[in-house]
Amino acid sequence: AKAKGPGALRFFSPEMSSRARDRLGLEADLRGALERREFSLHYQPQVDLRSGELIGLEALIRWTHPVRGNVAPAAFIPLAEECGLIVDLGDWVLKTACHQIRRWSDAGLAPRHTAVNISAVQLSSGRLLDSVKRALDAAGIAPEQLELEITESFVMLERELSFQSLADLRALGVRLSIDDFGTGYSSLAYLQQLKVHKLKIDMSFVRDMMNNSGNAAIVRAVIALGQSLGLEVIAEGVEEAGQARYLRDLGCDVMQGYLFSRPLVGEDTGALLADFTTR
Ligand code: C2E
Ligand code: CA
Ligand code: CA
Ligand code: CA
Repeated sequence: AKAKGPGALRFFSPEMSSRARDRLGLEADLRGALERREFSLHYQPQVDLRSGELIGLEALIRWTHPVRGNVAPAAFIPLAEECGLIVDLGDWVLKTACHQIRRWSDAGLAPRHTAVNISAVQLSSGRLLDSVKRALDAAGIAPEQLELEITESFVMLERELSFQSLADLRALGVRLSIDDFGTGYSSLAYLQQLKVHKLKIDMSFVRDMMNNSGNAAIVRAVIALGQSLGLEVIAEGVEEAGQARYLRDLGCDVMQGYLFSRPLVGEDTGALLADFTTR
């Protein structure tokens, strides 16, 4: 018989089928995870590059699987999107984050804004505006306290759909931030029409901007774009003091990253917020 090519080998490899089984198992587990209360939110601080003030937070979902332990969002968010579960999961994230904002507000600790990641599937569902309204009402917080992060790639690929949804959300009073900015080929004109509040420079450009002139050029261009449109610019994935100084000198407004803090559980976030308000 003819030797099998590498493609055929790969197709029938036990490794591959075990990965496929793994995926199915994970998806089945994911379906029950909300009811079993296996999800939680962590919060990562956003810091003003000039004043050093803690001005915002980003909520990041965590899944503690009973057997596997922590499963990274990168491993289960795409699955949740494919099977449609992301809509319910996204509702849970909104509701939970808004309640947390309420508790911090009552304690006089809430930062200016807390950001929540919104999946493209949620935005396309037609239910997002209603979910956001319900989450705000149930918690009794001001819309301006909530920020929604939407990826640049979705906003640029689905222009008609995103334009109307974003206009409705903006009218409601929530803040809008374009996530992973720099990767999705935004046009200046369209960006101006969208009237978002914030641009978030993707971590991949921040990572080696100090020794990659191409990345540095993109970082500089995004900051200049934000400044000319009057938008706040935040850099994510800031890990070194040198990067923070470099960004501040270029006129970047806010940073987020391990340099200041990793994402923290709610309790530790509260303690950090308290620390900052008594300073
Ligand atoms: P993202 O929105 O771009 O979030 C930033 C990711 O970078 C987070 O990973 C965060 O923990 C990580 N990070 C923060 N600072 C640093 C740093 O200094 N260095 C490095 N190397 N990484 C840093 P995480 O929490 O694993 O989330 C991954 C992605 O999963 C997020 O990317 C977002 O796209 C998605 N995600 C997380 N939570 C949610 C959610 O509630 N809903 C939706 N739809 N997606 C979510
Ligand atoms: Ca984000
Ligand atoms: Ca991001
Ligand atoms: Ca990202």
